[in-house]
Amino acid sequence: MRNVVIIGSGPAGLTAAVYAARANLSPLLIEGWQSGGQLTTTTEVENYPGFAKGIMGPELMKEMRSQAERFGTEFLTGDVTAVDLKQRPLTITVDAEQTIHAKTLIIATGASAIQIGLKNESRLTGHGVSTCATCDGFFFKGKELIVVGGGDSAMEEAIFLTKFASKVSIVHRRDKLRASKIMQDRAVKNEKITFIWNSAVEDILGNDVVAGARLKNLVTGKTTELPCAGVFVAIGHRPNTNLFASQLEMDAKGYLITNHGTTTSIPGVFAAGDVQDSTYRQAVTAAGSGCMAAIDAERFLEADDHSS
Ligand code: NAP
Repeated sequence: MRNVVIIGSGPAGLTAAVYAARANLSPLLIEGWQSGGQLTTTTEVENYPGFAKGIMGPELMKEMRSQAERFGTEFLTGDVTAVDLKQRPLTITVDAEQTIHAKTLIIATGASAIQIGLKNESRLTGHGVSTCATCDGFFFKGKELIVVGGGDSAMEEAIFLTKFASKVSIVHRRDKLRASKIMQDRAVKNEKITFIWNSAVEDILGNDVVAGARLKNLVTGKTTELPCAGVFVAIGHRPNTNLFASQLEMDAKGYLITNHGTTTSIPGVFAAGDVQDSTYRQAVTAAGSGCMAAIDAERFLEADDHSS
């Protein structure tokens, strides 16, 4: 029987682990096969406090993991395939074979990249279609690329890709960007970046690898084909909450609903980070709520001890 099980190894999960471990709760953290969360797919993090010169996302996550490990967090690598939160103790199943019982659970499963939803998008994923410039940009030296989206992620991906690509076209469905002013300015000033406004990617072209995209102008209805070697999709994220469907309360977009700090609709089950935050979605807010979840779990366990 575990005091605290944490699912997720991004800033929320690892901060929860640091706090729970330092409270002598011997947490078990279950990390997926791609440990470290979304920051492992980003480049330089400039807005995480304490790093005046910035820090690379993967490096920051490595540090956080070492910090959690230092205080005695136990790590288990695997995919959580089922949970039963309706009875106590809570049950967590890993890779459909290992069952873990827990007094409290901290859910920090984060969010995943949304795809456009085209048939050729999934077919060509890994063959020119990507949601991670940091992971795949290197393969496109001297090539022309498309980035889809108008938010901070799209700007960041496009700017990063100019290190390799000869040209990056940002395809956005409106004529106004959603990205922050500073990111917009950086993208606009970058000579390798051009903007294709009011346009949607209607299809991705290519047999074995991406050769281009068919774009539709949403104002005129006109379609054009744009040759390119890669399409980077950066249109936002969806919370990873499928596992908890019909057990925990969620909002219309699938984000877990928390009250009184990080408590979900089931006492003893807490949620931290992007899985419960559709508004701020920053590494630092995720870390902050991970800290809150560990403290909430500790207090829940204390109250539980007194009542039993
Ligand atoms: P986002 O802010 O939600 O932006 C998503 C973009 O994709 C929007 O421009 C949206 O268009 C477009 N979009 C959504 N669905 C689409 C579809 N089906 N087809 C085509 N376009 C679609 O997501 P994000 O850029 O991933 O950013 C998420 C959060 O992380 C934000 O709070 C952001 O500030 C933060 N972030 C910060 C940094 C940084 O500061 N360095 C970097 C990355 C992310 P519309 O504009 O028309 O809705």
